[in-house]
Amino acid sequence: MMITMKNVIREGHPTLTKVAQDVKLPLSQADKKLLKDMLQYVINSQDDEIAERYELRPAVGIAAPQVNQSKRMFAVHVRDFDGTLYSYALVNPVLKARSTDIIYVPGGEGCLSVDRETEGLTPRYGSVIFEGLNYDAVTDTLVPVELKLHGYVGIVFQHEFDHINGIMFTSKLFPSLPNAKPAFEFVTEEDEESI
Ligand code: ZN
Repeated sequence: MMITMKNVIREGHPTLTKVAQDVKLPLSQADKKLLKDMLQYVINSQDDEIAERYELRPAVGIAAPQVNQSKRMFAVHVRDFDGTLYSYALVNPVLKARSTDIIYVPGGEGCLSVDRETEGLTPRYGSVIFEGLNYDAVTDTLVPVELKLHGYVGIVFQHEFDHINGIMFTSKLFPSLPNAKPAFEFVTEEDEESI
């Protein structure tokens, strides 16, 4: 069974505001399947035909609490503006370092668990370093990774990392961020993807 929007819990559900539990190692078969299914959701959601057929909202990331599994894992599949692909199914990620400069998504962030339009900007660190274990479903291995992330891609990881700490972007909305910079030039709303 693939993950669809029917499996995604929405704002107001208590799991979304709970700090998720560390994932026990070695990974259980259920956790392996969840990691694989979460990454597949994100990849499928970016394929217009599959997304339309299964009514998947386009996304660049999804975290386990969003499918009502309070576990410290999330999947991201996103390209930065020079075309580099960041495709990960992370287990027990840790934020190791962050810069002091603050950036934001112009027009505001979106989220699979938020159905309403929101107004406001969400402050994020301009650069972050995450460490964690990446689950490679092809080789069925967990590989330690250190990810140095900047700009928009870093924002995507910070949004997902917030989910496993029970933090919704809707609790971090500001009308303006005077000392922050946009992560990229503004794009039209229909181009926006949920995180
Ligand atoms: Zn989200």
